[in-house]
Amino acid sequence: MRTRFAPSPTGPLHLGHAFSALTAHDMARAAGGSFLLRIEDIDQSRARPEWEAQIVEDLHWLGLSWDARPLRQSDNMAAYDAALDALWARGLLYRCDCNRRDIAAAASAPQEGAPLIGPDGLVYPGTCREKHRRSGPRPHGAALRLDMPRACDDLTEVRYTEKDTPVALPIHQLIDGIGDVVLARREMGTSYHLSVVVDDAAQAITHVVRGEDLADATPIHRLLQILLGLPEPFYHHHRLIRDDHGKRLAKRDDARAIARYRADGASPADIRALVGL
Ligand code: GLU
Repeated sequence: MRTRFAPSPTGPLHLGHAFSALTAHDMARAAGGSFLLRIEDIDQSRARPEWEAQIVEDLHWLGLSWDARPLRQSDNMAAYDAALDALWARGLLYRCDCNRRDIAAAASAPQEGAPLIGPDGLVYPGTCREKHRRSGPRPHGAALRLDMPRACDDLTEVRYTEKDTPVALPIHQLIDGIGDVVLARREMGTSYHLSVVVDDAAQAITHVVRGEDLADATPIHRLLQILLGLPEPFYHHHRLIRDDHGKRLAKRDDARAIARYRADGASPADIRALVGL
């Protein structure tokens, strides 16, 4: 078993992250497996080296260690380029120039019915799908979307295993309910979905352990694994740690930052108890 914790260094490590890291770590250790760290810093406008250093320091303080050098996504752009090139060469990507407002306007046009919300927000109404050529070199510095109907051409369903239970999602749910997701953002040259899939394979992750807020992204990740010929991991989406009002903790909840608990004299055992471990 190989699990990972994949924080984005855009804020402090808080109780929710600590729970996620401890869960992935404990699962691997209980099985005699490995635990890995990945720094998800493709959003260079928000990622900060100071946050990365603080996260690493908090994880060590919690008693966690990892079994290989952490993979930093900003060091791995060539791998994302290669994956995008492979999809582009098969005609599965197209350039999209729409901004949020264009998408909202097109999606709420009367003939479209009620706008559908997928895991990435509004389901893209397909405005640019036939607009740009798909031959020649892959455009850089542009947003690229996956042509979902074409990507799903040979498939009737997407299957994966969630906490030992097989899940089979009919393909129309990807085409209609998720739609043409962005795989390369204009300002990043990649996207969360693409990078996660490439890196889980690069780090040979067998069990993806993460919060249930990311469960809806799993069909996208499985489809990308199929398209790119990557191995299929098992999925384990864990419960979320909520604040006293039942709201999911966010990066800005500095009150729940591990650094704050440390400064107040808490021990790693206190943190485990606080998150119910
Ligand atoms: N980087 C993501 C986050 O901070 C986690 C991605 C994942 O586990 O797939 O929420």
